[in-house]
Amino acid sequence: MPDIKEITSLLQNPTAKDIALIQKAYDFAQKAHVGHTRKSGEPYFNHLFATAQNIAELGMGAVTISAGFLHDIIEDTGVKAEDIKKEFAGENGSEILFFFFFVTKLGKIIFQGTNRYNESMRKLFMAMSQDIRVLIIKLCDRLHNVQTLEFIPKEKQLRIAKETLEIYAPLAYRLGIKKLQRDLEDLSFGYVYPEDYEKIKKILKKKKDLVEIQLDKFQKTLKKELAKNGAVDFHMDYRVKSLYSLYKKLEKYEGDVEAIYDISALRIIVPSVPECYRILGIIHGAWRPLPGRIKDFISSPKLNGYRSMHTTIFSGDG
Ligand code: MN
Repeated sequence: MPDIKEITSLLQNPTAKDIALIQKAYDFAQKAHVGHTRKSGEPYFNHLFATAQNIAELGMGAVTISAGFLHDIIEDTGVKAEDIKKEFAGENGSEILFFFFFVTKLGKIIFQGTNRYNESMRKLFMAMSQDIRVLIIKLCDRLHNVQTLEFIPKEKQLRIAKETLEIYAPLAYRLGIKKLQRDLEDLSFGYVYPEDYEKIKKILKKKKDLVEIQLDKFQKTLKKELAKNGAVDFHMDYRVKSLYSLYKKLEKYEGDVEAIYDISALRIIVPSVPECYRILGIIHGAWRPLPGRIKDFISSPKLNGYRSMHTTIFSGDG
């Protein structure tokens, strides 16, 4: 059995009640799905655990994590919404009941023609409009499903991967959960566009090692420059562009890799907006910016609320 501590250790300052609730959901799901396996042959419970873990990693609370353990219980086992309601009624008062209200409600929307796909989308939208946490659970469920896509029959694989790229990943983006978007996309990409996937993988592989060495080196220089100017309160990291995002960008630039300036990027997170502009000033004072590449997403935030400054500079090695 997977260790529940892998999940509870992700909670910040959990109460005894939080831990007890998660343990209860863990036990309840484990019992209800006993003997039930995934296409890969592993116990079905592993999927529920992975979903709950994905939810916990996003920093969600005990109720949402518990719902992750229970998300397939009504559809796939003999357990009824009523049973869950009864079982968890005393645990977390109104919040938990609200959650199961929706599970019940989802179960009650009956098939009304068209196809299974439309039906499940309709259910998802209805649930989301009542509580956005439903979407979080759904995205974390989907993440594990694409992580295990290799075990699924081919036609189904393509449908799930396509749906992930076209619907779920953009929703993760819209929620501002970039890591989730990135994982959903990169895991699905190869199933939908196998040839492009291989091509992009090769391009990125060639660039990645070099770029990481450069970023690591430049990060140190940049830290010194900032310290010299009295800026010490920040968090800095870097990222190399994801496969799917590079693919989308290459499409836009008609395959010209050299035209893409953000294959590698450094990120500096500061405590305030004025500090953000000040740091940009320090950077432009030390390294020449590329004209026309300064983007102010603070005065004009992206649709998902993303706010930052972007710039492209010439570092020491060009
Ligand atoms: Mn599931």
